Amino acid sequence: MDDQFLFSNNVIGLKEIANEKYCLTFKKQFGYKAGQVVQLTCNRSIEPRLYSLCSGEFDQQMEILFDLKLGGELTPKLVELNPGDRLYVSHPYGQFLRPTPEKMWWIATGTGIAPFRSMMRSGYEADKILHGARLEEQFYFSDEFKTAFGEKYVRCNSSTNEVGDFQGRVTNYIESVKSLPKDIKYYLCGRSMMVVEVRDLLIARGVPFENILSEIFF
Ligand SMILES: Cc1cc2nc3c(=O)[nH]c(=O)nc-3n(C[C@H](O)[C@H](O)[C@H](O)COP(=O)(O)OP(=O)(O)OC[C@H]3O[C@@H](n4cnc5c(N)ncnc54)[C@H](O)[C@@H]3O)c2cc1C
Repeated sequence: MDDQFLFSNNVIGLKEIANEKYCLTFKKQFGYKAGQVVQLTCNRSIEPRLYSLCSGEFDQQMEILFDLKLGGELTPKLVELNPGDRLYVSHPYGQFLRPTPEKMWWIATGTGIAPFRSMMRSGYEADKILHGARLEEQFYFSDEFKTAFGEKYVRCNSSTNEVGDFQGRVTNYIESVKSLPKDIKYYLCGRSMMVVEVRDLLIARGVPFENILSEIFF
């Protein structure tokens, strides 16, 4: 990416919210829409990576949720950052937006919950939020989602046996729904395997392809 599209920014805070998962906050230089991404790096010699903003449209700071990739080039450097350190951040962009008050489900695993947290904090509604994880600590922002959405927020827990969680993966939850709504939008976000699997399942259950929107973290 051409350096001229990266703007100098500063770290406000870095917090490890679960094992090897971090929230990084930095200065809000531009307005943005929930669901958009930024390109970000902490060193001009390292190619910027894409991150979904997980802060809301009206928040005073920008925030991302990221995974530490052991052996990765950028994230091991990001976890060393301190308040005041320099970042280089692009203008926010992207089309994974929630533009109209249509009915919709949000489906995420892992850090894929980030854009939906942004949508939630921006005041957008969903009819169902499926959040898949294996460990309790991986249900990032779970309390915020429960408060905002109550029973519409379903934690799909594929290993531990927490009371109130659906036992199984997001795909098992979708399979368990007898009449899956077809005329709503399905927003999927996460790693490619999950997104492809959920998309194929929705299509097999009769959801039109054009009703499925996805953001893949690769
Ligand atoms: C639209 C979009 C949105 C995204 N949003 C987020 C987000 O909100 N949060 C988030 O955490 N991530 C997100 N990502 C992923 C993110 O952009 C980066 O891919 C990730 O943070 C890369 O980290 P890194 O630079 O440390 O690892 P990289 O250096 O890119 O390496 C990634 C992995 O590959 C391995 N690897 C690298 N080179 C080799 C090699 N030659 N051979 C074998 N293995 C190798 C590394 O060990 C590491 O585990 C998003 C991606 C996209 C496309």
